[in-house]
Amino acid sequence: MLRLPVLGSSPPPWDLPGGRFEDRFGRRISYLRVSLTDRCNYRCTYCMPEDVEFKPRAELLTFEEIVRLITVFAGLGVRRVRLTGGEPTVRKDVVQLVGMVAAVEGIDSVVMTSNGHLLADLAAPLAAAGLKGINVSIDTLDADRFATVTRNGDLARVVAGVDAARAAGLTVKLNAVALRGINDHELGALAAFGWERGIVTRYIEHMPMSGGELYDDSHELSAAEIRAAVEADHGPLAASDPARAHHGPSRYWHLAADPRREIGIISAMTEHFCDACNRVRLTATGELHACLGHDDAVNLRDVLRGGGNDEDVIHAIAAAVGAKRAGHEFQRTGAGGPMKHMISMGG
Ligand code: SAM
Ligand code: SF4
Repeated sequence: MLRLPVLGSSPPPWDLPGGRFEDRFGRRISYLRVSLTDRCNYRCTYCMPEDVEFKPRAELLTFEEIVRLITVFAGLGVRRVRLTGGEPTVRKDVVQLVGMVAAVEGIDSVVMTSNGHLLADLAAPLAAAGLKGINVSIDTLDADRFATVTRNGDLARVVAGVDAARAAGLTVKLNAVALRGINDHELGALAAFGWERGIVTRYIEHMPMSGGELYDDSHELSAAEIRAAVEADHGPLAASDPARAHHGPSRYWHLAADPRREIGIISAMTEHFCDACNRVRLTATGELHACLGHDDAVNLRDVLRGGGNDEDVIHAIAAAVGAKRAGHEFQRTGAGGPMKHMISMGG
């Protein structure tokens, strides 16, 4: 049995190897989100400050470093990996990387979050390489509004990407950041767009990242308002079995009249789910962030490039997880968030 030294007041109760990988609040960590790049081919207004500085490529984790770190996490109990960005599909040779991650012993599921712009061509090779599912972001079904929100995105290409992903056998979900005055009149239509394709649309409450710089509380829309908007178009919703949400942050509802017609809501602001958090985030430059809502981080790339062995990596992971906060402190006014940008965290 290995007890790990950690920063912070109480060491996490890990009995390793093969035991529980938990933080000091007893939350088991089984899910790792890995950002492959801090760059993106879109520039969504709520995600990316216009003056954001990209990291030099030499600072990004190499494929070998990513796989080595995921292997260590798998040894600690991580079973599910989500590849994200920036936009993960702009990372060169992403298909090869998916194959490498899918081959890591202990990783049961490799999934991705993408803006879908390159998916029409990539969906089949990604699925063949071992990708199981993909969440695609579509905030609006109006092509002009889509181009405005994404600063030049192409809705038709993204819809083609969604259909290619379904055809390739991937589990597909849609993500839509819900914003008053931008897409609040389309929330029901976004649900129907998913249902027509047999997929679930998930609405995300806008979170005040980037020191609140991109957040405008006049656009803020609560989970209750999102549900009311869907109900206004489609009739009453009922809560789905909470076990549906066991991997991720979304909670699910379905039409009371038709349980097959579901929606998800990631209600980070008004009905937050920090007490059930099971995940940590690795940025493209190797920083391990135990909480999306705080700037705390430990750099694992520096441990690797400093010649550290796997035990050194585990100690660094222990420091980050041992210091994981009870929850975020986002406020609906836009205060309380971290300085870091959503584009570098990948959601
Ligand atoms: N580029 C990919 C995409 O757009 O899906 C992956 C990265 S993106 C940061 C992941 C998710 O975060 C997207 O669904 C996006 O809409 C969402 N997102 C970005 N900024 C956000 C914010 N400030 N609050 C809530 N969600 C946000
Ligand atoms: Fe790029 Fe995704 Fe952020 Fe939009 S939400 S700017 S697509 S990383």
